[in-house]
Amino acid sequence: MVYLDNAATTRISEEVLEAMLPFLKEEYGNPSSIYNFSRAARLAIEQAREKTAAAIKADKSEIFFTSGGTEADNWALKSVARAMAGSGKKHIITSAFEHYAVLHSAQALEKEGFDLTYLPVGKEGVVTAEKVDDAIRPDTGLVSVMYVNNELGTLMPIDEIGLVCRENGIIFHTDAVQAAGNVEIDVESQNIDLLSLSAHKINGPKGTGALYCRSGVNLAPLIHGGAQERGKRAGTENVAGIAGFGRAIEIAAANIREKNKKLAPLHDKILAEVLKLPRTYLNGDKEKRVPSIMNFTFEGIEGESLLLMLDIQGICASAGSACSSGSLSPSHVLTALGMDEDIAHGSLRVSLGAYNTEDDVNALAAALPKIVNQLRVISPLWREINRR
Ligand SMILES: *Cc1c(COP(=O)(O)O)cnc(C)c1O
Repeated sequence: MVYLDNAATTRISEEVLEAMLPFLKEEYGNPSSIYNFSRAARLAIEQAREKTAAAIKADKSEIFFTSGGTEADNWALKSVARAMAGSGKKHIITSAFEHYAVLHSAQALEKEGFDLTYLPVGKEGVVTAEKVDDAIRPDTGLVSVMYVNNELGTLMPIDEIGLVCRENGIIFHTDAVQAAGNVEIDVESQNIDLLSLSAHKINGPKGTGALYCRSGVNLAPLIHGGAQERGKRAGTENVAGIAGFGRAIEIAAANIREKNKKLAPLHDKILAEVLKLPRTYLNGDKEKRVPSIMNFTFEGIEGESLLLMLDIQGICASAGSACSSGSLSPSHVLTALGMDEDIAHGSLRVSLGAYNTEDDVNALAAALPKIVNQLRVISPLWREINRR
């Protein structure tokens, strides 16, 4: 099996699994209980909090564990929006190609009466600080722009956007799920007020994540119940998951340079091989990107057929489009780039992770051109394109 879908999820690392196992076995105490037996569980959560804080240059009191990136995004948007409504602000700025965890939270807030601006991302798939600045109104209270786009791998100028928000007294949230382990994160120098993380994108377990919330920013709970997470996020903690997340982010943050040094040549080789094919493009900016995610469009074919054929060869990748309720609609990320719907259908995302090797790249390079050619031979769309 050749796994090239690391933006969807990653393999859990041996070190992370080791960090989790005690809490799935003998150390099963409830972290909220007062007897001595529960101390190990409580300590594990606090150590994971310190590691998470260190990875993004925050204070441990600013880290709240969640069930993943989706919950962190929902929490950030909904909590800040409802708090700012109290001070008469009702305008929120985000972008057209956010993850659905942000986009659908934004749409839910629109139904509650908030005004939303969805910034365009251009052909390059980058949200500029200038666009953010231009969209700011007197009643703007929140900006949410992702750090790295999960379908394209494009990198946003988070420092510049953070500065614009700070200068205008606006709260700035960034979904950094695909940034962790790939680029440096410094919530202080980058003026980030809230930031979402997920464990399973960085060789950690599924179902665990965190929200960073700068001290002083009013964070109302999203999940009500007990007093866990300092009364901000109720529910008995996922101790093993949190312990695993702490270890995963510690390793990810320590290995950014090393990982990029390893992945950059693999990225370059995939690009060189794939772009040899005619009428084939890399989507998004060529420079402002992380080496771990690439998105290609092959004119004249269907991404789904491409994925099935790759699967037969044991290669896991992903289409740029999502299949929703039986009807195939192209990805909102690709249409946000201004791509035609039928062209967007012929897209493929290849995403690299810590465990990929040159052999994986060679397997893709050997399989892909044959598959693309086979599909084009039988494609009426391809024939039509060549007749134009
Ligand atoms: C995966 C992902 C999420 C969702 O995280 P989960 O932990 O799977 O809920 C949010 N945002 C981005 C950019 C992602 O890639």
